[in-house]
Amino acid sequence: MPTESTFLLAGLFLLLVAAGWALGRFGERDEDQAAPPPPLNVDYLKGLNFLLNEQTDQALEHFLKMVRVDDRTIETHFALGSLFRRRGEVDRAIRIHQNIIARPDLAAEQRDQALFSLAKDYLHAGLLDRAEKLFVRLSQGSRYQVEALERLCRIYEQEREWQQAIEASQELEKLSGRSLALQVAHYYCELAEQAASQKNYAAARAFLKKAQSGRPRTVRGALARAEIAQATDDTKTALRLYQRIIEERTYLLIEALPRLVAIHEREGSLDQLERDLRAMLQKHPDMGTYVAYTAIVNDIGGIPVVDECVEQYLVDDPLLAEFVDLQRVRAGSEGDRQEALARIRSALNKLAATTPRYRCTECGFASQRLLWQCPSCKNWETQRPAARLTLDPLLQRTAAM
Ligand SMILES: [Zn+2]
Repeated sequence: MPTESTFLLAGLFLLLVAAGWALGRFGERDEDQAAPPPPLNVDYLKGLNFLLNEQTDQALEHFLKMVRVDDRTIETHFALGSLFRRRGEVDRAIRIHQNIIARPDLAAEQRDQALFSLAKDYLHAGLLDRAEKLFVRLSQGSRYQVEALERLCRIYEQEREWQQAIEASQELEKLSGRSLALQVAHYYCELAEQAASQKNYAAARAFLKKAQSGRPRTVRGALARAEIAQATDDTKTALRLYQRIIEERTYLLIEALPRLVAIHEREGSLDQLERDLRAMLQKHPDMGTYVAYTAIVNDIGGIPVVDECVEQYLVDDPLLAEFVDLQRVRAGSEGDRQEALARIRSALNKLAATTPRYRCTECGFASQRLLWQCPSCKNWETQRPAARLTLDPLLQRTAAM
């Protein structure tokens, strides 16, 4: 079966004929314009033969030899290169762009365009080192400076080279006039988390200070500071910070509550947590869903206010009501009730392990744990918790039974 590339190149050959290039404008024959053209160009027939035999690579090589890069053909070469890249045939795109760059008398602007296209090919092929080198070169002075820096940020993120990512972002801010404060703050948080994981808390705190210096700020800095406080037994600071985090971003209760429970359990002060949570729910009654969801997902139980939230959550779920008669469960003896609820919670906890907990509000990308940068759309802090368990798998399982 002829591939799309075969048709693409065949079309190109035909176009060249139509444009009159077959009649003496191929390759080395530029100088022979005065001579009468052959009725059918041999090079053209050779290329066509490759295509008829579905030898796309040979046809491409032949095309590149036949049609020299000059001012009239360069756009065709670029168009062909980007077409191949878009179709995922990166090797061919690379070959075409390298062929353009090899031309000795290429104008500076065209060289930059070819280098930029080649860098994009490398990026597409996952050859990050090669792409990085070219983007660095283009970022130092070309009309692709901004685009090159944007791509460099993505490469450094992938390579987890946070310091370089910061430098590229700052350069990009200067050139584009856009604020990238949130992105830079996250890079500093990454550095802080790396330092903290090596127990280098002084360095971690210094990075976090830098993360807090721009606007808008990320609450991730406070979360990292709370974790450091927790790791260094500064319970008072940790508790204060977790409290602040929940107030600033209610959805982060999902991250903060398990840590709060751990601290209060260790300190023997679960009654204090009970009071804090009741006060919070009085102020924000809608947060009961988050409390319940977090408790189910992390298997937190035995704290009266949390258990009440879970019970309410179960009663409020219309889908769950299809499976369990919760009114009957509630009407039963205290022992039976507790046992039935514990069984439902345990089933939901198992279900939670197989369903996504976070979803990106920009592109819908779903994941089990909180990701500060969405791996799909690359936006920062766009994930939000599901807050309700997806019961679809449960329904499907029941339907299959
Ligand atoms: Zn996304």
